[in-house]
Amino acid sequence: MILPVLISISLVHIMVPAGYYFWMKRLSKKGNWNLTLSDFEPKVTLIVATYNEANIIEDKLNNIRELTYPKDNLEVIVVDSASTDGTAQVVKDYLERNSLPFKTIVIEEDQRRGKSKALNNALQTASGNIVATSDADCIWTPQSFNNALKYLSDKSVAAVCGVEVLTNPEESSAARTELQHRQVFNFIRVGESKLQSTIVFEGALALYKKGLLEKFDEDCDDSGSALNLVQKGFRTIMVPDASFLNACPRGWKAKATKKIRRAQHLVDVWWKCLKLSLRRKSKMNPWISASNIFLYLFNPFLFPVFMVTIVGIFLTWPLTSLTIPVFLLVPKLRDGIITYLSNYVFLLYAILMQALGRKQIVWKK
Ligand code: GDP
Ligand code: MN
Repeated sequence: MILPVLISISLVHIMVPAGYYFWMKRLSKKGNWNLTLSDFEPKVTLIVATYNEANIIEDKLNNIRELTYPKDNLEVIVVDSASTDGTAQVVKDYLERNSLPFKTIVIEEDQRRGKSKALNNALQTASGNIVATSDADCIWTPQSFNNALKYLSDKSVAAVCGVEVLTNPEESSAARTELQHRQVFNFIRVGESKLQSTIVFEGALALYKKGLLEKFDEDCDDSGSALNLVQKGFRTIMVPDASFLNACPRGWKAKATKKIRRAQHLVDVWWKCLKLSLRRKSKMNPWISASNIFLYLFNPFLFPVFMVTIVGIFLTWPLTSLTIPVFLLVPKLRDGIITYLSNYVFLLYAILMQALGRKQIVWKK
């Protein structure tokens, strides 16, 4: 009696995300941007926020030097929030040793108040019409910046972000499953961008029109900034020809910490979107907002129902449990299941933290 109800709910739990994925994947491959692009070379300020990055900040500065963008139009700001490992000094020493072809400013905050606040601090000094952000621990491919910038030549686009490429996808189970997750979500985000906008933004390679941005969102990070721009009537897009390289945490504990923090921002930003929709104020494409609101705010609660349904099916039709070895022995299937399970556990945890009002403005590094 109850099992058919559980099965129906489980079908919704699985089919809605699956349907949305296939639709977005198709759009990402076959859809049109509906943009008019032209060459332009505006003045750009690239902001790198740092907290305890002494080990890698030189690599990041070297990476910026390799950008093919005209150096006269480039300004770099490193904003450091009182790192305890001497990051700011490493940058200053680097600048003394190397004469960079572009202007570089180091801002030292006296206290750590979080990345978004640091970005806003740097924004006050930024002289470019375009503001870009990057993380210290990611590497841009030389062309990715120019490729991303091109999209801002269209009037309707206020912000562009890049696609993350993992540098260590085979390193561990945490990294392998992250690769699977990325493969699915990169399609979804690019598909949404072609339809209208994605607000799930990657601050590791993001470009904004400064006049429209005004300030970075301090609640929901990069995604909050993107939502604010969509609400102003502009598009915010993830583009496949701008990629940045990033390593996934090798262990599950480190990965969980990062994923839960990101999930909290997403839960927060989709909650905002839900409230805007209910007040009929949302400027998001309704398909995009409805699907993501379902995915992030409602579907996690159907996850336990799905688990119970699976057990119910095995108990009612014992022969079905013969499929278990297949799922456990085929590596791709097994990783897929781990990706699915961990995603929903992270999301449920993030929703719980959000409900308890525990925001993560600064995080352990
Ligand atoms: P994740 O990749 O999302 O786990 O985030 P990271 O820990 O790599 O942080 C992204 C970027 O923000 C890195 O360049 C960090 O150094 C920087 N960052 C993190 N927290 C702070 C902060 O409180 N202040 C500043 N200025 N930068 C920060
Ligand atoms: Mn990082």
